[in-house]
Amino acid sequence: MSPLLEQLSSRIRSDGPISLADYMAECLLHPEHGYYTTHSPFGAAGDFTTAPEISQMFGELIGLSLAQCWLDQGAPSPFTLAELGPGRGTLMADLLRATRHVPGFHAALQLYLIEASPNLRATQKEALKTYEIHWADSVDALPKQPLFLVANEFFDALPIRQFVRDTEGWREKRVGLADGSLTFGLGPQAPQPALEHRLLDTKPDDLVELNPGLAPITATLAQRIASHGGAALIVDYGDWRSLGDTLQALKAHAPADPLDAPGTADLTAHVDFEVLCTVASGAGCSHSKLTPQGIFLERLGIPERARALAAKLEGESLENLISAHRRLTHPEEMGNLFKVLGLTPANTPPPPGLLS
Ligand code: SAH
Repeated sequence: MSPLLEQLSSRIRSDGPISLADYMAECLLHPEHGYYTTHSPFGAAGDFTTAPEISQMFGELIGLSLAQCWLDQGAPSPFTLAELGPGRGTLMADLLRATRHVPGFHAALQLYLIEASPNLRATQKEALKTYEIHWADSVDALPKQPLFLVANEFFDALPIRQFVRDTEGWREKRVGLADGSLTFGLGPQAPQPALEHRLLDTKPDDLVELNPGLAPITATLAQRIASHGGAALIVDYGDWRSLGDTLQALKAHAPADPLDAPGTADLTAHVDFEVLCTVASGAGCSHSKLTPQGIFLERLGIPERARALAAKLEGESLENLISAHRRLTHPEEMGNLFKVLGLTPANTPPPPGLLS
């Protein structure tokens, strides 16, 4: 039995079943045995590939969108350039290279990375070694000044709770033990104030998800942007108003059982962008239309950027570029599954690539 499975089993034996959110938090972020502590998740040798790892064009275009937004807001100096969950630091490296020639941008920026994993912090340090980096544990710790922020596949990595609709309340899905193995079960029916409104659009046996970390993080970053200026670009897979089980375990690029071998697979869930928008509006921000990633990148000129890069390539590298362009934008690949949301101060236009 793996050490994490042993710890989880003895906790469940002494305290009873745990919520899915507690289970995910242990699996992903346990300081010794958590997935992000013990694995190098990205790329061909890892468990999944993210957009910035597919092509440099992703980070470049995001960088130019944020830099244009910074110019449009009067080029405030100093300002915070931040990324939530920067992974290997690839997006930030591409963003910084693409914005080198934006007058004043690099001189004014203070770079902050919000990263929980010590391993990934070390990788980010290496990827961005020519820049001065500050790491922060949370958005709260960012300086109180204009904030230009990007988050790609960050919110989907936060632990979620799942609830199954009963006649007039909710039963929480929990992880327990049966015959010595981890198993899903349901807790007793209980009212859930955060899900009161979902009683209106669901029926018995429907499953809804709640991401307890999403609202407080969004509220803090939206308050920063509303009162000091700035913008956030949030890219993730998900949609408007979650319905149904979206918990996914990925191991070596293939789906796995989320309860099998805890701490060895990446666990994610779709992001409910409706919650993000409601919280951001409540904190005084404007939000853009929720936009498919493919459309966002096309509006920012990915075809032209791909053509410019293609002019210098041939053979296999040219094939790779063509397939990367397709993967990022095609509706049957990442183009539609991934969505982009922009946040800006009230009554300020969204970052380029998005519509208000
Ligand atoms: N943005 C990157 C990585 C996405 S994976 C990319 O697109 O390639 C999720 C990232 O969020 C990882 O860097 C992970 O370590 C980090 N992360 C997950 N939960 C976190 C938390 N609660 N606080 C800070 N970082 C977290």
